[in-house]
Order: sequence, then C-alpha cells, then structure tokens
Amino acid sequence: MKCHKHTHIDAVATCGDCGRSLCRECADRFALLSCEHCVVKVNASYSRSIIGTFVLSSALFVAVFLFYQWILSSSDMVTSKKLLTSLWAAYQGGSIPFGWQLLNLARSKTDSGGTIATTNVHFIFWIIKVVVSIVIGVVATPFMLYRSIKKLKEMKSLAQEIRTGGISA
Ligand SMILES: [Zn+2]
Ligand SMILES: [Zn+2]
Repeated sequence: MKCHKHTHIDAVATCGDCGRSLCRECADRFALLSCEHCVVKVNASYSRSIIGTFVLSSALFVAVFLFYQWILSSSDMVTSKKLLTSLWAAYQGGSIPFGWQLLNLARSKTDSGGTIATTNVHFIFWIIKVVVSIVIGVVATPFMLYRSIKKLKEMKSLAQEIRTGGISA
C-alpha cells in the first residue's frame, strides 16, 4: 500500500479517522495519527469554538458594562469612576468564558470519570464553576486571548499550506 499523498512511497500507517494510508513523513506530521484532511476538518471546528468564545466574551463584556452604567447612573460617583467601575466589572464578565474554557481544559486532563449523581449537586457545582471561572478568568484572559489568537493563526496558515500543497513531495 502506498501513501495517499506520496503515491510512490510505501505507507506505514493509516489515518485514525478516515483510514487514508500514510507514509512515514505523513504519519509523523501531526501529534495524532491523522491525515491532513482530517486535521483541517478538526481545526475548522476548533476555530469555530474559539470564535464562539470570543463572541460570548464580547457579549458578556457589553452586557455587564451597560448593566453597571445603568446601576451607577443614579449614584453620585464621579463619571470617570463610574466608567472605571463598569469597565472592571465588564472585564470580569467577559473573562468568564475564558476561565470556563481553562477549567474544562484542566478537567479533561485530570478527569477520573466520576459522575455527579443528582441534578441539585450538579447545579451547585455549576455555580461554583462560574465563580471560579471569574476568579481564574480575570488572571487568565490576557493569556487565553493571546493563546487563542495564536492558535487561530496557526490553524489558518496550516489550512492554507495544505490547500496550496506546500508540503507535497
Ligand atoms: Zn484522515
Ligand atoms: Zn506521505
């Protein structure tokens, strides 16, 4: 069997997702045993979820900002302080999706497979998770933003490279 891409080279493995045959070079290309078509497909859905987080974060930022501006509108705080207070609260709100994402990352690495029995307990965990997300998110958001944008760029250039056949032999 020959590599699906390098048709003159013997295949040493197959893609774990679609079964395309892979030569040594193709098999070693990605961390997972996957062909580039499947990597691009997975990356596309990952990109969508990153963009979803950006959209959600922005929406929370705007919502919390407007809410605080509205709450503070009747207070005798100076305008600049109102603005700063609202911005800080908005930043915390916008941080939730990033903190949440980071918690999920940590969980997927440490998950022991235990399930939570009742819905009530589940709800309490959910509340705790939101609170922890805010705390973690406030610190992690700049880092997560940087990481997400870097990832998006990497995935975009990889998809482009594959489309133009930049690495073909
Ligand atoms: Zn594949
Ligand atoms: Zn190959």
